[in-house]
Amino acid sequence: MMYCLVINSGSSSIKFQIVDPESSATDEPLASGLVEQIGEPQGAINITVEGEKSREELEVVNHTQGLKRAFELLDARGVGPSQLDFFAVGHRVVHGGKLFSEPVLIDAQIESMIEDLIPLAPLHNPANLDGIRVAREILPDLPHVAVFDTAFFNHMPPAAALYAINNEVASQYDIRRYGFHGTSHEFISQQVPKVLGRDPEHTRQITLHLGNGASAAAVHNGRAMDTSMGLTPLAGLVMGTRTGDIDPGIIFHLAREAQMSIDEIDVLLNKKSGVKGLAGVNDFRALREMIDDGNSDAWLAYNIYIHQLRRFIGSYMIILGRVDAITFAAGVGENDVEVRADALADLEVYGIKIDPERNAVRSDEPREISTDDSTVKVLVVPTNEELAIAQKAAALTQG
Ligand code: ADP
Repeated sequence: MMYCLVINSGSSSIKFQIVDPESSATDEPLASGLVEQIGEPQGAINITVEGEKSREELEVVNHTQGLKRAFELLDARGVGPSQLDFFAVGHRVVHGGKLFSEPVLIDAQIESMIEDLIPLAPLHNPANLDGIRVAREILPDLPHVAVFDTAFFNHMPPAAALYAINNEVASQYDIRRYGFHGTSHEFISQQVPKVLGRDPEHTRQITLHLGNGASAAAVHNGRAMDTSMGLTPLAGLVMGTRTGDIDPGIIFHLAREAQMSIDEIDVLLNKKSGVKGLAGVNDFRALREMIDDGNSDAWLAYNIYIHQLRRFIGSYMIILGRVDAITFAAGVGENDVEVRADALADLEVYGIKIDPERNAVRSDEPREISTDDSTVKVLVVPTNEELAIAQKAAALTQG
C-alpha cells in the first residue's frame, strides 16, 4: 500500500497524518501526530499509530527539529519514512492568492511564489513554508505537493470575488475575496451528488463547513459561485473566536475611541470574539451545557451564530436560483443536532424540511437528514481535508 504524508504546518505547531488516499472520509489515518509549542521551553510531540497514542515532552526549538524528531518517533513505531513507501508529501498551504487554482508540485520557484503571497497571509504562509522547506530537506527524493485552501474559489465570478472598494487600491494590493476551507468545500460538494445519486453537472448546492473556523459556499454544478470568507478567514459566519462579518467602521471606531492599535484590534476580532467573545467558550459542547443551565450570554451567542448562518444560507439560495442540497460538515456541522435544526427551521415554504429523527441519528457516514418530500435535500457529510490533500497529491503525482 502507498501512503501520502500530509503536513499542515502552523506557526508554533505541525500537524501531520499518514493517509491512504483510497480510504474513506471516516477511516482513521494509519498514523497522525502533532508537534506542539515549537519555540517554547515546554514542547511536545504526540503521535497516534493505529489508535495507540504516545507523547514525548521536550523543548522543540524549531520546525526542523520538530519534524526530524517526529519522523524518528514514527520510525520507532514502524511507520516512519524509512519503513513506509510514501508516494508524496502533501502540504496544506493557506493562501494561493490569484496564482494557484490547482495543486502544484513544489520546486524552488513555487516556494518563492508562496513566499510572495506572505503579505496576504502573514500568519499562515510563513509557517506553511517552514513546513515545506523542512520536509523537502528531510525527504528530498519524494514529490512535494502544495494544496491551497483558496484554490477552489479562484474562479468565482468577478461579481462575487470583487469588493466595491476603490479599484486602483484593490489592484495594487490584491484586495479581493479569496475564500478559505476550499479543499473541504470541494470535497464535500463532490460527495453530495454521489450520496444523492445525482449528476454533479446538474447539482446546485450550499456547503456549510462549521468547525472552529466556519464558512459557507454556493456551488453550481461543481464550481464555486460565492463563499463567506474574504481576503482573510475573518469574514462571513460567526466562528469559535472570530467575529465573521462586521461593519468595518468598527475598526476605525476602536482605533479612535479606544486607542487600540491595529495589532490589538486584529487579536480582538480574530481571537477574542465570535462565540468565545460573547459567551466565554468556543466549544459548542460547552456552549450547549451553558444554555441548558440557563446562561443568557450563551443563549444570545448561539442565536447570533444561527442568525448569521441563516443570513448566508438565504442569500446563497437566491444566488443559486435553485438549490438541490444543503450540507453540514466539520466539528459543529457533523455533530450538533440543534445547530442543523435551527439553521433550517421553518423553511418549509422554500421546500426545506429536516426530519427530526434522521437529524438525531449519530453516524460517521454521509447521510440525508431531510424528509422524503423535502425538495431541497439536507445532508451531513463528514469532511476530511487530509484525505482530500492525499487524493490530490495522488492525482498529481500518479496520474
Ligand atoms: P477546526 O478544524 O476548525 O479546529 P473542527 O472541524 O474539528 O475544527 O471543529 C471543532 C469544533 O467542533 C469544536 O470547537 C466544537 O465546537 C465542535 N464540536 C466537536 N464535537 C462536537 C459535538 N459532539 N457536538 C457539538 N459540537 C462539537
